[in-house]
Amino acid sequence: MDPRHIAELISITGDESRVLTQPLVVEQLSRDFYWYSPVLRKLLDGKVAEVVVQPLGATEIQSLLRYCYDRNIPVTVRGAGTGNYGQAVPLQGGVVLDLTRMDQIEEFQPDGVAVCQPGVRLGVLENEARRVGWELRCYPSTVVKSSLGGFLGGGSGGIGSVANGNLRDFETVRALQVVTMEPEPRVVLHKGEAVHEILHAWGTNGIITRIWLALAPAVDWAQCVVAFKDFNAAYDFSEKIATTPEWTKRLVTTFEWPIPSFFTPVKQYAPEGKALIFFLIAGRQLGAFEAEAREAG
Ligand SMILES: Cc1cc2nc3c(=O)[nH]c(=O)nc-3n(C[C@H](O)[C@H](O)[C@H](O)COP(=O)(O)OP(=O)(O)OC[C@H]3O[C@@H](n4cnc5c(N)ncnc54)[C@H](O)[C@@H]3O)c2cc1C
Repeated sequence: MDPRHIAELISITGDESRVLTQPLVVEQLSRDFYWYSPVLRKLLDGKVAEVVVQPLGATEIQSLLRYCYDRNIPVTVRGAGTGNYGQAVPLQGGVVLDLTRMDQIEEFQPDGVAVCQPGVRLGVLENEARRVGWELRCYPSTVVKSSLGGFLGGGSGGIGSVANGNLRDFETVRALQVVTMEPEPRVVLHKGEAVHEILHAWGTNGIITRIWLALAPAVDWAQCVVAFKDFNAAYDFSEKIATTPEWTKRLVTTFEWPIPSFFTPVKQYAPEGKALIFFLIAGRQLGAFEAEAREAG
């Protein structure tokens, strides 16, 4: 990249430490988990940005986008880079806009809506929400590392979805503040149904800068694993627990043998040849749940 662009980006941010040009750092922040796929690996290996910029707010993002739009510099948005389809990989160099420094939780509203910046890690948001009696309605398995903005931009649902649906369901995402990339970038608010214009658009039609996210009342969860002699019996039990309203659950996941044999950390609990079900179930229901599982075999 022309060094004059770098100098200009530094002047827009007013902070040299947020404009990263060290090749190894730029390379690292140009990757996500695309390499899980042998197909994407061939297509995306070697794609790197020329510079990474770490903005702190919507106004600064507006100025950065105005500059990049004028000079035809591509911009790729990045949260924590845990997406596994190459969504955060810069295809044509340019700028990676890394939003991890915009990680503030602004408030928890009394009706259980969290107002946050996009770079907040989901694990942090879950822990902070629990302190005030709430929890995430759903989260991905990358909860510890991934960001809320990246989850809304590139994810869909996960743990919790069995009870609360995916991100697109039940008005979980109440509103989004977004900066557009056009000659004169605008800060716009998408509320209600209009959030669906932005959700899961991979940052291609706007950069999410503030999020109003509905939470669920916090529950004390117990983790447990149940083994069945065959997959059909396991599936029937899973379905019953998943669809019966009296069970308070956050996770119901059924695995046919030999999949459990690959889960090294829990391998010791996986009896040879059996189908396993992983549950997150309300701790207060654990006794009744165990009795129900035994009765089902
Ligand atoms: C082992 C593994 C398990 C996973 N499990 C799940 C799962 O259960 N459920 C699930 O949904 N996903 C899952 N994922 C995918 C991914 O981890 C999650 O979707 C995660 O929440 C993405 O967050 P991130 O911060 O890493 O996003 P990134 O990878 O950084 O970005 C994801 C996309 O969102 C865009 N983006 C990032 N920030 C913004 C923003 N502020 N505004 C607009 N666009 C933005 C990026 O450009 C990119 O297109 C999994 C991935 C792995 C590797």
